[in-house]
Amino acid sequence: MAVKPRIDIQLPTDQLIVVGGGGGFIGGHLVDYFRRLGYRKIRAVDIKPLGEWYQRFPDVESLQLDLSKIDACRTALKDSQIVFNLAADMGGMGFIENNKALCMLSVLINTHMLMAAREFKVDRFFYASSACVYNADKQRDPKVTALKEEDAYPAMPEDGYGWEKLFSERMCRHFREDFGINARAARYHNVYGPFGTYDGGREKAPAAVSRKVISAKLSGKHEIEIWGTGEQTRSFMYIDDCTVGTHAILASNILEPINLGSNELVSINQLVDIVEGIAEIKLKRRYKLDAPKGVNGRNSDNTRIKELLGWEPSTRLRNGMEKTYRWIYDQMTSGKPNASFTHS
Ligand code: NAD
Repeated sequence: MAVKPRIDIQLPTDQLIVVGGGGGFIGGHLVDYFRRLGYRKIRAVDIKPLGEWYQRFPDVESLQLDLSKIDACRTALKDSQIVFNLAADMGGMGFIENNKALCMLSVLINTHMLMAAREFKVDRFFYASSACVYNADKQRDPKVTALKEEDAYPAMPEDGYGWEKLFSERMCRHFREDFGINARAARYHNVYGPFGTYDGGREKAPAAVSRKVISAKLSGKHEIEIWGTGEQTRSFMYIDDCTVGTHAILASNILEPINLGSNELVSINQLVDIVEGIAEIKLKRRYKLDAPKGVNGRNSDNTRIKELLGWEPSTRLRNGMEKTYRWIYDQMTSGKPNASFTHS
């Protein structure tokens, strides 16, 4: 169970919630989270055909729209009071290092979503930013000092993806200051869990490592390729901690972007140890030193969110990875990998 943070303002359950990127990993879980809380008017929007959404809900209005277009944002946000913008063209390091222009084009999504939010006078707007906004100089050592919110400036974020996130955070700020949009932004640090991407090139480390270990187990070829030296460090936040933290930030009066991430720091080698333990297997490791590996070290300093909202991550990496591994294993052995899951 996720630790229950303070929810400063109770948003009425009859308000219309729009989740941009609702066919994606975090968006799908966020839709489910608010359904379970009793919100009955939810609209999920994504560019992907409905059959490719990770999760679908019969009681949720689901629209396929390209939110980089202003007219699509108007359709998406009509009559809404609460808007979450999680739509972005993104993926793990392999994707963002090789698709910088595509990542930067997501600026059109947040720009048009904010413009439509202003037109419809939405009550609250949430933007999903990222730890990739942080200054690269603060992330050169694997024994990293956890990143505080002020470490985003002077700006030297991840090229492409991180610049877009930092710019969009800034745009939220100025739409709030100049146009009165009640915008909030969280800086997510690596989120993982079931119902997300685990193959195809956009997957992140927890899903990629799970898939590789499962493939090795199923094929009998007991080796694994690791990107970089495996000594680079990260923290990984389980999806249930992310959804509840997102709700608390949206409902808060915290105007500046705030960290939402785990502070359980591990190296990629330790992450592989964990997954090997779950799979009860030991693999020969091959290190691909020229593969995209991102910064050497990154961790979340949670002092501010703990103090302001009482939020802290409650799922240990071993426990969250167990659930993630089992879900990916079932997908890979089901004969219908990547099938969209429809809830009853
Ligand atoms: P995801 O790729 O699963 O979800 C993003 C969704 O946005 C996808 O379903 C995609 O189809 C949709 N999308 C892309 N372009 C669109 C468009 N033009 N119109 C409508 N929909 C569009 O990724 P996620 O992991 O669920 O991430 C959600 C948000 O959180 C993103 O903004 C991401 O940058 C941010 N974030 C995620 C992580 C993480 O670890 N997952 C970390 C930091 C920030």
